[in-house]
Amino acid sequence: MAKDIILELTPENAANSQLLLKAVASKLGMSVKDVGHYTITRRSIDSRHGKVRVNLGIRVFDRDEPIADGKPQFTYGDVSKSPPVAVIGAGPAGLFAALRLIEHGYKPIVVERGKEVSARKRDVALLNREHKLNPDSNYAFGEGGAGTFSDGKLYTRSRKRGDYNRVLYILCNHGASEDILFDSHPHIGTNRLPGIIVKIRETIISYGGEILYNSRVESIKTDGSRVTGVKLSDGRLVEAKACILATGHSARDVYSMLLNQQIQIEAKPFAMGVRVEHPQAIIDSIQYHGTPRGDYLPAASYSLVQQVEGRGVYSFCMCPGGFIVPAATEPNEVVVNGMSPSLRNSRWANSGIVVEVRLDDLKSYSKYGELAGVEYQHYLEELASLHGGFGVKAPAQRLVDFVDGNYSASLPSCSYHPGITSSELHAWLPDDIGFRLRKGFRAFGARMKGFLTNEAVVLGVESRTSSPVRIPRNPETLQHVGVEGLFPAGEGAGYAGGIVSSAFDGERCADAVAFYLGG
Ligand SMILES: Cc1cc2nc3c(=O)[nH]c(=O)nc-3n(C[C@H](O)[C@H](O)[C@H](O)COP(=O)(O)OP(=O)(O)OC[C@H]3O[C@@H](n4cnc5c(N)ncnc54)[C@H](O)[C@@H]3O)c2cc1C
Repeated sequence: MAKDIILELTPENAANSQLLLKAVASKLGMSVKDVGHYTITRRSIDSRHGKVRVNLGIRVFDRDEPIADGKPQFTYGDVSKSPPVAVIGAGPAGLFAALRLIEHGYKPIVVERGKEVSARKRDVALLNREHKLNPDSNYAFGEGGAGTFSDGKLYTRSRKRGDYNRVLYILCNHGASEDILFDSHPHIGTNRLPGIIVKIRETIISYGGEILYNSRVESIKTDGSRVTGVKLSDGRLVEAKACILATGHSARDVYSMLLNQQIQIEAKPFAMGVRVEHPQAIIDSIQYHGTPRGDYLPAASYSLVQQVEGRGVYSFCMCPGGFIVPAATEPNEVVVNGMSPSLRNSRWANSGIVVEVRLDDLKSYSKYGELAGVEYQHYLEELASLHGGFGVKAPAQRLVDFVDGNYSASLPSCSYHPGITSSELHAWLPDDIGFRLRKGFRAFGARMKGFLTNEAVVLGVESRTSSPVRIPRNPETLQHVGVEGLFPAGEGAGYAGGIVSSAFDGERCADAVAFYLGG
């Protein structure tokens, strides 16, 4: 019978299969030749108490025992002649919804405003090189959605382990490394994500689904109360009795479209701040207690949170060994975010450091109603562009200068490709954000000795961490509270945050669609 054991090893021993086998045998009190086969079920790094160890969860099977890996089964059949379901948006929520609809025997018609992923890659390169932003093809829009050029972190706070595992296995079936199944902080990397997106597309199309690129949805068609289809900006109509709306939180025009159609949306709290970048060597040295990282340890990361005057200040989307990228969707906005390659091997470590923004904080924006948060984000993004020198150059300040309120006469080298301009972020960020950030950074510096350094730089603004709008849905049926057959999904609907939770929200909506159409 399978036995579960836990090993605590040095990074070198954990990476060496012979030494690992010896450790398994020794833990079980048997000789190496008597160990059957084993699989790693969990891998995490523990660098507390002044030393660095790799903790491994291992399931050891008897020699003749089949390996029960708990892998979920996915059954796709031909849906080319099945009833269509419109899926708006080819981000994680839309793509995973499409796969799940196929499992349920429905034909997904995925409508995506941006380009397919390889053409999108060229637009992103142009943005970095020549600062030319294509409003429909950029870091947020296009096949794969906002997470395609990212770190591909796959963490979620959701406790629904079954849903989480399904998403991870689907990613593995489409080319992700199986390490994501057991790493405590799995990630894929920006170099690998596009290939996975292409394979997901191939699965959708090979079973009879459709994907329409360069196709922006302009309105939801109804017969008064029920969805009948969606209309595209070029006049085409996609007929369907159900529609999954998975357009992400950067698609501000979609919120306006819903308001214009008197489809209810509501403002919700979100978070905003800056992105901080350190030399990776500093973060490694802090987290690994000055021991060089060597060949066996990953680029170190951190996760920080502090309450400041009634609001949470916290690190968000930390990218070890990564790059800061321009993630705006309109010209003359600066929005920063982070990505990293699978090896996390750049010389920088960046992270969003953001402050909660509550509805109470938006009183001066109340004239914008449900769009108060959207307008506040937009205001700060334009302000950042202004202070960066118009366009996509980002305003930046050395970290200690930001905290102490001093101008930075020079700036350190930085991974942000379009370039940075020295700017007094401490002076122009609204007080309820800037002041809290500065206090938060002081607290982080006290917790991580060496974090608060002028070798680090802050860039503004990290404004798109979470959706400032919710598209309300019935918690049982997942349909919009006012329109039958409309299923708001993913991050833009306010029901998810991040790749994995958006993906499984897409799956849940597909389940709800199947129930609605089949019932
Ligand atoms: C640079 C960057 C790095 C990130 N890193 C990570 C990370 O490491 N880990 C993580 O968990 N999360 C990360 N995120 C966040 C993550 O990408 C999002 O949470 C996730 O992609 C949301 O999924 P979604 O499907 O709900 O929406 P999106 O991914 O935003 O997808 C929405 C899609 O809808 C399309 N669309 C919008 N409007 C229309 C319209 N009118 N008609 C047709 N199509 C439309 C868009 O083009 C887009 O493709 C990152 C985001 C960015 C920008």
